[in-house]
Parts: sequence; structure tokens; C-alpha cells
Amino acid sequence: MRLLIMGPPGAGKGTQAKAVADHFGVPAISTGDIFRANVGQGTPLGVEAKRYMDAGEYVPDEVTNKMVRDRIAEPDAEKGFLLDGYPRTLAQVTELDAMIDATGHRLDAVLCLTVDREAVVGRLLKRAQIEGRADDTEDVIRRRLEVYAEETEPLIEVYGERGLVVSVDGMGEVEEVQQRIFDALDDVPES
Ligand code: ADP
Repeated sequence: MRLLIMGPPGAGKGTQAKAVADHFGVPAISTGDIFRANVGQGTPLGVEAKRYMDAGEYVPDEVTNKMVRDRIAEPDAEKGFLLDGYPRTLAQVTELDAMIDATGHRLDAVLCLTVDREAVVGRLLKRAQIEGRADDTEDVIRRRLEVYAEETEPLIEVYGERGLVVSVDGMGEVEEVQQRIFDALDDVPES
């Protein structure tokens, strides 16, 4: 299975991504997690990414594309993957198309988690208190939501035109949302 999970910051993508990936036996690849790991280790990639992340802006496409290309070339992603947080721009969609084409496979589905905008801000502020993520202050959260609406939300239409979008209501308990996702993905034929 080659899947994407999309939705605004705070939609619960990370939590659901892991469950869905386990279910299909593929790795969950989160660009946000990879960036944070690099920031934590102080790698050159981390140093570069941090400037953008702390401001709620996207890391430049060239940097992100290369990182994803390297990651999905690893052996564990040969049988498929679930991408969380990528693609986020039209240029990234084009890159991902090329990466998947090169494997001779195709994208199976784009899972979209829908959530209420204000609920999302509340969730993110709560997470900020617990995890202390540098990009979880209220101003930065609002900026991240703005960037999402401008740059990433339009991608849902692009994938919608390809007939790939599976929309799931992301409000409610984690288990409840997870069940909805599994029910929705059951109908997706694997390539
Ligand atoms: P969230 O889903 O809560 O917005 P992520 O953990 O997915 O956060 O990403 C955190 C930050 O990492 C983003 O705000 C952005 O700066 C950077 N990032 C992650 N994925 C991408 C991407 N595909 N393109 C550009 N920047 C990215």
C-alpha cells in the first residue's frame, strides 16, 4: 500500500498514521518527525530546517524532497509506505509522482482527516503544554494553519480529481476515528 495522510496541523495525523501503517505492514514516514530528529541531533539538515519550523513556515521543497526521496529508497519502504506530512506543496506532489512512478507502482489512496478549525487550535495548545514543541505557541500555531490553508489544502482537490481521496471525520476519540479510517480504507484496492 502506498498511502498519504493529510489534514491540518492538530488533526491527529501522527497518531492515526502509526495505527494505519501497522495495519498495512508498511512504515509510517513523518517528515515532521524526521526534521525534529535532525534538529535534536544538530545535523546540518536540522540546523537548516529549524529556522523555518520555529516560524511555522515550510522547509524549502528542495530540502524536503531530497529527504523523502532518500527515505523511501530504504528497503523497508519497498513494499509500500504511509506518508504523513508530505506532500505539502504542489511542487512536492510532482516530485512524489516521479518517485512513485520510478518504482513502477502507484499511489493507492489519500486519507484526509477533517477537523473543526477551533478545536484544532485547542488541541495544539494543549499538546504544547505537554510536549513543549517550539512551534506550538499560539502565534506560530495560527501561522501554521494559515500556511496549511494556502499551500496544502488545495492539494486535496488535486488528489480528488484523481479519485484518490478518502475523507474521514477526525473529531472524536482516537479509537473511534481509527475505526472510521479502517472502515473507509477497507474498500481501497491495493495496487
Ligand atoms: P504539524 O502536522 O503539526 O503541522 P509536522 O510535525 O508535520 O507538524 O511538521 C512540523 C514542521 O516541519 C512544519 O511546520 C514544517 O516547518 C516542517 N515540515 C514538515 N513536513 C514538511 C513538508 N512536507 N514540507 C515543508 N516543511 C515541512
